[in-house]
Amino acid sequence: MKIKNTDRSRQLEACRTDFWKSYKAGRIRDAFEKIRSIPMFYSEPEGFGDLIDNPADDIRPAFRAEHDGCELLRTFTNMIGSDSDADTVPARLRFLRELIREFPDWRFAINLLALMLFENGEYREAFAAAKTSYDLKENCPFGEHILRKILRKLSADTLPGMVLNRLEQSLLLDLRGFICTKPFTNFEVWRTGEVFVCCGAWVPVSIGNVFEQSADEIWNSPEARELRRSVLDGDFRYCSRSCALISSGLLMKKSDLIEENLEKYDKLWGILVYKKAREIAKSLTPYFVKNETRMAEGPHFVNLAHDYTCNLYCPSCRSEIRAADRERRNKLNIVRDRVILPLLPNIRELLLAGDGDPFASQHYRSILKALDKDRFPDLRLSVLTNGMFVYGKPMGTT
Ligand code: SF4
Repeated sequence: MKIKNTDRSRQLEACRTDFWKSYKAGRIRDAFEKIRSIPMFYSEPEGFGDLIDNPADDIRPAFRAEHDGCELLRTFTNMIGSDSDADTVPARLRFLRELIREFPDWRFAINLLALMLFENGEYREAFAAAKTSYDLKENCPFGEHILRKILRKLSADTLPGMVLNRLEQSLLLDLRGFICTKPFTNFEVWRTGEVFVCCGAWVPVSIGNVFEQSADEIWNSPEARELRRSVLDGDFRYCSRSCALISSGLLMKKSDLIEENLEKYDKLWGILVYKKAREIAKSLTPYFVKNETRMAEGPHFVNLAHDYTCNLYCPSCRSEIRAADRERRNKLNIVRDRVILPLLPNIRELLLAGDGDPFASQHYRSILKALDKDRFPDLRLSVLTNGMFVYGKPMGTT
């Protein structure tokens, strides 16, 4: 929820005053309720402090939201003991533990407890708290960040005695020298028009929006180039360590790609959609050699899910029939001409449709019509459909 700055300040100030009054009067439950009544999600860029190694680079909204909620809660927690000369840290930690007992699923509080224990040098306890938070929500970039920070701090004496699960082990991996081709090949369009280079849960960073930008503006956007930089340098900072390639040790070695020692990865690529993965990887070698993030080619794998139009409503997907109205269809036509058609000459795998049905949607059908085998002989089409119109008349036609 976005709130104007002035409203936000006023609301927070009132909330802090009420909170403090209740707390001082011993009405702890009321004090907790005061904190819980404020919206924790804001959209302001400031306030990252030293929690992020390089704030200018951080482009993950999910990270920012979790971080901001946690830091906002800290401003309340820091009021505890502020009127006393005694050591305030134990009182603040006690306060957070009570708060978590009251609201056991509240991850802002659990993350803050983990961070404050960490700052107090209580690494094992911090680790236990961070694990609780991560178990409540997997693929949380902020949760991973805290876990990694703590794991790195645990001493060489402590770590061998601990049983780490696969994710925790992968958080400690040094991925320099490894590479992932997805930021160089993939273009996955969501219903909102946002484009991702990988599963949005693993890399929650949009590189652009098809409703607002051209194909090249998106494909070579600052976000897309930063993602490529992160895998070329081996820091993989935007990739969740729960990614199957990372956590299963399946990432490719950069040296194998550069030396074209690629046969050993055929099995891996068999699992992925690409059928020409080895050939595509080879064509990318110049980018890996020169650490180049601006692409003159690609994307090679395109997954379209930006038109929800479908003739059915399956409970797993929606509760009513949904179809693009005229206004949205006009916008989709612009997207087709400005973004999708210019991409066709480079696409090797086109998946239709990640959302909606490719034969029920006029928009998708107009893309299918453009797939001229003579003009695009290397393009392979994968179709995800309910099958109703494969032989029949598509929706909206006579
Ligand atoms: S999350 Fe995994 S598959 Fe996705 S870009 Fe990162 S390394 Fe590649």
